[in-house]
Amino acid sequence: MMMADGMFGAIAIVMVVGFFGFFFVVAMALFRVVGTLFRRLFMIGGGDDSARPVSFATRNVHCRNPQCRHTNIPTARYCARCGQRLAALEHVDQHG
Ligand SMILES: [Zn+2]
Repeated sequence: MMMADGMFGAIAIVMVVGFFGFFFVVAMALFRVVGTLFRRLFMIGGGDDSARPVSFATRNVHCRNPQCRHTNIPTARYCARCGQRLAALEHVDQHG
């Protein structure tokens, strides 16, 4: 009887440890995902200022105005110098 009780207790302990280990792994994964989402939302929400430092390794956007050619940050939609619209997502027609 004592051996059976000991085995049952050991199995219960293993099950509890396994459950908490699984819970810990899931909690860590959720924490990481939520942190990434929060950081992304925060960056989108406050990323419209021109004073934002260029921290990504993406390519800069050059102004299409031939008399300006200002190098803008990758997230810029309009040229910081002359106000020319930067059509970064459209295809650039080269004639002209
Ligand atoms: Zn420009």
